[in-house]
Amino acid sequence: MSVNIAIDGPAGAGKSTIAKLLAKKMGFVYVDTGAMYRAMAYYFLTNQIDSNNQDQIESAAQSVDVTLKYEEGQQIVLLNGENINDKIRNEEVGNMASATSIYPKVRTKLVALQQKLAETTNVIMDGRDIGSVVLPNADVKFYLTASSTVRAKRRFDELSAKGIECDINQIEKDIIERDDRDMHRETSPLTICDDAVLVDSSYMTIEEVVDKMIQIINEKTNESYGC
Ligand code: C5P
Repeated sequence: MSVNIAIDGPAGAGKSTIAKLLAKKMGFVYVDTGAMYRAMAYYFLTNQIDSNNQDQIESAAQSVDVTLKYEEGQQIVLLNGENINDKIRNEEVGNMASATSIYPKVRTKLVALQQKLAETTNVIMDGRDIGSVVLPNADVKFYLTASSTVRAKRRFDELSAKGIECDINQIEKDIIERDDRDMHRETSPLTICDDAVLVDSSYMTIEEVVDKMIQIINEKTNESYGC
């Protein structure tokens, strides 16, 4: 039986950074489900499909092929066979992913893929519906969050470091809007599961968050990962 760790939380809470580190320390595979919604979104954007057109989005989602593969521990997202890792990490794709992940047929397809991965592999999986829908029986569930101001500042620093000019107030506005849509959509909204451990990283360093989460995982699974 594989061990599954679920991490949910809003945009920019540090889920992927933390999950990657956890996976490395624990020898698990990191599954970034957001990248799968981003891959679909990238397809819709490049094919000029309107995010409000549910029929077109859902029918395109059926025919498009999103696959994950791993090279030296790194997740690579393939869209119809093409590696699009470096094309999906921008705000335009993130916002399109949020706007189109509301549609049930987009979700069903990706959820099935995620569940299949977790069946046979020890995974740390992050997203919005992992504890509630994808892995309801996960061994440990976390809800990782931080204030919107802190999250906007982190995103701003990340983009600035890449030389991308941006406005921190606009980033915070986008984050709040994205959270609102992710939390209030009809299908699989972002919620805090009753059995999830809440971690607020607003005033914690990355190392502190990772250490705390490993401690909780070890307590809950009676294992000694990362030691
Ligand atoms: O986590 P990331 O910012 O890459 O996710 C992009 C968007 O994909 C989110 O805003 C959310 O709408 C959607 N998503 C989702 N369910 C997941 C992962 C991501 O709906 N499990």
